Amino acid sequence: MNTVTRPRILVVGAGFAGVECVRRLERKLSPDEADVTLVTPFAYQLYLPLLPQVASGVLTPQSIAVSLRRSKKYRTRIIPGGAIGVDLKSKVCVIRTITDKIVNEPYDYIVLAPGSVTRTFDIPGLTDHAFGMKTLAEAAYIRDHVISQLDLADASQDPAERAARLQFVVVGGGYAGTETAACLQRLTHAAVKRYPRIDPGLIKWHLIDIAPKLMPELGDKLGRSAQEILRRRGIEISLGVSIEKAGPEEVTFTDGRVIPTRTLIWTAGVVASPLMATLGAETVRGRLAVTAEMCLPGHDGVFALGDAAAVPDLAKGEESAVCPPTAQHAMRQGKHVADNVIATLRNRPMQPYTHKDLGLVVDLGGKDAVSKPLGVELRGLPAQAVARGYHWSALRTNVAKTRVMTNWLLNAVAGDDFVRTGFQARKPAKLKDFEYTDMYLTPEQVRAHVEGTARQD
Ligand SMILES: Cc1cc2nc3c(=O)[nH]c(=O)nc-3n(C[C@H](O)[C@H](O)[C@H](O)COP(=O)(O)OP(=O)(O)OC[C@H]3O[C@@H](n4cnc5c(N)ncnc54)[C@H](O)[C@@H]3O)c2cc1C
Repeated sequence: MNTVTRPRILVVGAGFAGVECVRRLERKLSPDEADVTLVTPFAYQLYLPLLPQVASGVLTPQSIAVSLRRSKKYRTRIIPGGAIGVDLKSKVCVIRTITDKIVNEPYDYIVLAPGSVTRTFDIPGLTDHAFGMKTLAEAAYIRDHVISQLDLADASQDPAERAARLQFVVVGGGYAGTETAACLQRLTHAAVKRYPRIDPGLIKWHLIDIAPKLMPELGDKLGRSAQEILRRRGIEISLGVSIEKAGPEEVTFTDGRVIPTRTLIWTAGVVASPLMATLGAETVRGRLAVTAEMCLPGHDGVFALGDAAAVPDLAKGEESAVCPPTAQHAMRQGKHVADNVIATLRNRPMQPYTHKDLGLVVDLGGKDAVSKPLGVELRGLPAQAVARGYHWSALRTNVAKTRVMTNWLLNAVAGDDFVRTGFQARKPAKLKDFEYTDMYLTPEQVRAHVEGTARQD
């Protein structure tokens, strides 16, 4: 007979925040003190900041998929699936497993760290024709797609088709979009040597953003440097511009330009996971409103953090400031929330989260980079060394570190290659197909489901 009465801690999401939290709980709690369970659709923690380098083929997909099962202290039970609703009243999380079975997981403490999804707008054709840059599958797919455009342009006898296949549009001038455009432009530029039939003048990358500046976090001078680097490399930057509509063979900009293209990459921001809306609690632009201790007010034992939560940014000193959605905060919040869960378990006071931003690193591929660690503005090789050094040290396992370093060295020595794997070639693969945003329940459906299953038991 199972007579376990230990408190049950359920962590949702194995990203920066969730994994740091689980690892800390494993280290600091004895196995008798609590049972820790993790819900995650994938068996890895994705190191998202290096995703553009997977899309450009500098890194292999596996190198940034950090195993969840390598820690020596590993003892967490992992449920392979996604949480689709949380019933705060009965303390039950509803999960759709990877075999599509719906199961209820009761908890005493829940830590919500499901991250964010790509933010889209009501732009005609967008979700049907754009790619995102938020999952490993998307990055791998985009790589294949871009190489297939080179292959098809090379083979085509039709000048209009050739020109269209060699134009690429990236929307979003934050670090994700800028790095994606920069890394992929470098790939297509290097391709010219291997595709002698392609006129290099036809390869054109557009980077557009509705905002008046690229990466405003960098400040004016460094932001301008980044723009100069990209412009020198032939990337056409259009600011104050967005997309009017997207079709299978062309994209219309809001300034009236119609760009014939088969490639639209949409990285115009993120929004909290739809899971947060299933709680029926207060949100701030989609992120769950929590205290500086990362607790949901009025609900004991409910914690939220990372991209999914609006955690007050105490270091900024402004009342309404919330932490930006960055890995830098998510990792630290993960550790901090674990300490607060443990404090609650042991009837000790919780501590508010505070962290002063360390700055930003932006890898533009090759020797190009801009970085602002601790307010110091760097360009070129020093910036690149800081960017890569920072990411490398933040990778959680030595295996991941070795894979990434080996890939960087190999790419530096042997250059890019243009292998199209074709794994997903026949599957629909646009924004709406990768992020499963339609799997969530409404708060009423969660309640009805939990009450219905309770009656059956
Ligand atoms: C291309 C790109 C580049 C970036 N570069 C930088 C950078 O240079 N520096 C920086 O600080 N930040 C960067 N970021 C932002 C950073 O990656 C995020 O802020 C960070 O990943 C947030 O951590 P998180 O734990 O909240 O979410 P994530 O790391 O996204 O983790 C969320 C996890 O939850 C899982 N999940 C989702 N839904 C569910 C569900 N319903 N049930 C269970 N599990 C679920 C996901 O599969 C994922 O494993 C970048 C982001 C992108 C996309």
